[in-house]
Amino acid sequence: GKGAALVTAWASRLADQTRQIAEILAEFRLTQDQLLEVKKRMLTEIQTGLSKKTQDKATVKMLPTYVRSTPDGTENGDFLALDLGGTNFRVLLVKIRSGKRRTVEMHNKIYAIPIEVMQGTGEELFDHIVACISDFLDYMGMKNARLPLGFTFSFPCRQTSLDAGILVNWTKGFKATDCEGEDVVNLLREGIKRREEFDLDVVAVVNDTVGTMMTCAYEEPTCEVGLIAGTGSNACYMEEMKNIETVDGDQGRMCVNMEWGAFGDNGCLDDIRTQYDRAVDDLSLNPGKQRYEKMCSGMYLGEIVRNILIDLTKRGFLFRGQISETLKTRGIFETKFLSQIESDRLALLQVRSILQHLGLDSTCDDSIIVKEVCGAVSRRAAQICGAGMAAVVDKIRENRGLDHLDITVGVDGTLYKLHPHFSRIMHQTVKELAPKCDVNFLLSEDGSGKGAALITAVGCRLREQEQK
Ligand code: BGC
Ligand code: MG
Repeated sequence: GKGAALVTAWASRLADQTRQIAEILAEFRLTQDQLLEVKKRMLTEIQTGLSKKTQDKATVKMLPTYVRSTPDGTENGDFLALDLGGTNFRVLLVKIRSGKRRTVEMHNKIYAIPIEVMQGTGEELFDHIVACISDFLDYMGMKNARLPLGFTFSFPCRQTSLDAGILVNWTKGFKATDCEGEDVVNLLREGIKRREEFDLDVVAVVNDTVGTMMTCAYEEPTCEVGLIAGTGSNACYMEEMKNIETVDGDQGRMCVNMEWGAFGDNGCLDDIRTQYDRAVDDLSLNPGKQRYEKMCSGMYLGEIVRNILIDLTKRGFLFRGQISETLKTRGIFETKFLSQIESDRLALLQVRSILQHLGLDSTCDDSIIVKEVCGAVSRRAAQICGAGMAAVVDKIRENRGLDHLDITVGVDGTLYKLHPHFSRIMHQTVKELAPKCDVNFLLSEDGSGKGAALITAVGCRLREQEQK
């Protein structure tokens, strides 16, 4: 009868819906061969970035950092550190004590950077940074100290020494004018001069990956790789000087800031990018740039999810087919929400309440679909990040002519720390794709602050030696 016909129609529509959703999510499922291919391509780009002949057109820039050794425990003194470019902007005081009982004591304060300042003029941005330092020095009662400062600046910088770094381009949410192509240490020094209130000795500009590696190396000398899986994505490692053709000298090693976020900017990942990745890229502050980062870092995963949800809603599979204003809002799914939604301990009812909290009115079926979408996107992120890391550790192994390598990777970043599955899947992928390496991942406690201070300490020591 009529009832049976209705049921049949409903069942076939449901089957069709399930199939379409599965098809979309299948695009995010990469085979082992595809992941091996990602690893191989990363190795090719690493080589392109290291060779003198090809580095000009390299997408993975392999920037020398002038950090030539990991800490040895003799670092000592009081240092200021700035941490710009992660989830929070912070000013820190780091007291490092060497000797039998090595200690590191830290004080820090978080400051907001309003979006108008992130995307205003360079002068406004650096005036704001210096105003925050001023507030911090007042707070600590240290205005007259002229402390040495390490500047953790988590963007690609072309360095010619420890204390000079030309910003190649902004990434993530930053877009202040008149900074690209400038030495950010100079911009900071000029800002300090303009304020005419205190003086500082800027000793080092440090990428967050390098700070993270150094912090872990302070506890664990086998740490020669740094990884950030946070707002952005990047890695650094100790490369043989003889392989770094862009810096003179063949002795020893130097840490290279890979800037792997730009992997794929030459189109080499196009076969695994989806229409949703392209949509996220097109609507970003830097279209065409940082394509790998846009597939695997915290600032963009939520955006990929949002774009999929919009598509599913348009097809009538979600939210009763209604695209709400909330769903149209960029940046609603922060890393912390994705992490909550994917937590195994949450019942679906709680997922619904998170969505409700974001302003998305969901049914029980909706919440199941949303959770699946999040899972597909974050799994792929962890896997391609692992494929990149597999390339790095295998490169180090080959550098040293070893059949087997034991190595420690220092890691930091909100995605790595907060997400319930990212770290496990990433570790597993590295294991599968680099079977000749035993990789130990060590969580860095506050790499950006402590690491910058350690590098500054080494910088001060070297300077004193030179003066003798
Ligand atoms: C920047 C890197 C940084 C990474 C993690 C990227 O967008 O280009 O310099 O290390 O984010 O913060
Ligand atoms: Mg950070």
